[in-house]
Amino acid sequence: MGRGVERYDVIVVGARCAGAPLATHLVRAGLSVALVDRATFPSDTASTHIFQASGAAVLGRLGVVDRLLATGAPWLEVSDMQLADFSAKVPWPTEPSDPGPGLCVRRHVLDSILVETAQEAGATLHTGTRVTALVREGARVAGVVAEGDGGERRLLAPLVVGADGRSSKVGRLVGARTYNVAPNERFGYWAYYEGARWSPPASVLMLRWDDRFLIACPTDADLYMVGVLPPLAELKSFTADVEASYEAEVARCRRLDDVLADARRVARPRGQASFAGFFRESAGPGWVLVGDAGHFKDPSPGQGISDALRQGERLAEAVVNAGGVAADTDAATARWSRWRDRDAAGMHWFAHDLGAAGPVPLLFDGIVRGLAAEPDGLRRAIDVFNHRVEPSDLLTPRRLVVAAGQALVARRHPPRVVLDEVKTVVGNDLRRRWRNHFPLYADAASVPESDSLAGG
Ligand SMILES: Cc1cc2nc3c(=O)[nH]c(=O)nc-3n(C[C@H](O)[C@H](O)[C@H](O)COP(=O)(O)OP(=O)(O)OC[C@H]3O[C@@H](n4cnc5c(N)ncnc54)[C@H](O)[C@@H]3O)c2cc1C
Repeated sequence: MGRGVERYDVIVVGARCAGAPLATHLVRAGLSVALVDRATFPSDTASTHIFQASGAAVLGRLGVVDRLLATGAPWLEVSDMQLADFSAKVPWPTEPSDPGPGLCVRRHVLDSILVETAQEAGATLHTGTRVTALVREGARVAGVVAEGDGGERRLLAPLVVGADGRSSKVGRLVGARTYNVAPNERFGYWAYYEGARWSPPASVLMLRWDDRFLIACPTDADLYMVGVLPPLAELKSFTADVEASYEAEVARCRRLDDVLADARRVARPRGQASFAGFFRESAGPGWVLVGDAGHFKDPSPGQGISDALRQGERLAEAVVNAGGVAADTDAATARWSRWRDRDAAGMHWFAHDLGAAGPVPLLFDGIVRGLAAEPDGLRRAIDVFNHRVEPSDLLTPRRLVVAAGQALVARRHPPRVVLDEVKTVVGNDLRRRWRNHFPLYADAASVPESDSLAGG
């Protein structure tokens, strides 16, 4: 082995929700793994951090739930939702094997636990180390060039995994194309409070009224997180004075009056303005992309962490089963990436709709009211956020027709408004089904290169 050259079975670039658990699974299956991140840990990343039962289930299998609960984060046992003037509290659905319904753990805490777990399992950790180039052998990717404190080194492996986030360096170096881009229509700011007044069981509030959108719940260290998602058209005025704008936005939500009555905000709000949803080609000879590197969806339904965890677990299984044979590994990662597309498509479009600017669409409101009248209807609606019910299983043509009929009979809106919404929903559905099979490729510029903070 030459100086500055190390060999592994797998190199994982990016050590957060996608990369670190994947490395843990692979090492536990007997593979040698280098886990590389330009960041050092603990460190934050610009993201809120609610995840649901399907993510908790993966964390249970990783064996980290006790550590997560030791942070003080309570299980989020109730969904407390408001859609226009409809509201409901629903026990968060779980399956018997789930360790719990979902948690909210700040990223510098969560990601550090995941990195420590990978290191304890036996992954070789290179933090503060940036991947700058790929090593190639003919058409195959055969390793990475990485720069850290010790200078430049070459890490070689038959498989390089890009778990390196939305701007994926690995994805750009292999020339992976993006497709089915869905621009965001809102931006997000969030902050933490101490002394918030809430009593068990812990709820996650997801409130949409007028054209406003707010998400709030308890997090670790006895803190309470409040995130606001104003329409993108308000970004300029909001960022002119982030603190005042954030406070004003939170004050609009009367549901938080009691919760925050004696609370004190402990940090400046953080924000993100640019988070278009997209897919990126995710597998090729010697490389694969997982987590945000390969697919990002509007964060409104809070799916990215659970998706990264689920994808990593499934990718590890595919790689291990391929037994280290290059051709078999390539075939396995290609199959895995097709599964990823099928698995993520419905939620990608649903997330875009949930995060759309403007008031709650009439028909969406009508369908949720219809579900509330069905036995188990709202429970199934919440199970969409667990990724255990497809949005299309609930947003069915029959429910759409019933909701439209009721809106027409109620005469609260002119018939043209109702019929225009029906046309939009049906048109979107047909277009999206087509796009899921025949993707619309985009130029790289339509996906944000940087995850820098907006204003705050
Ligand atoms: C505003 C906002 C709010 C969100 N809220 C939620 C939420 O409430 N719940 C939820 O589930 N999801 C949420 N998400 C989504 C969630 O943040 C992501 O889906 C999740 O972080 C994906 O994890 P990842 O490991 O794929 O990527 P990342 O968390 O982005 O990690 C990528 C890692 O790769 C490293 N890296 C990048 N380039 C290199 C390089 N060249 N060399 C070495 N290392 C590199 C980075 O340092 C980073 O540590 C939100 C996202 C946004 C933008």
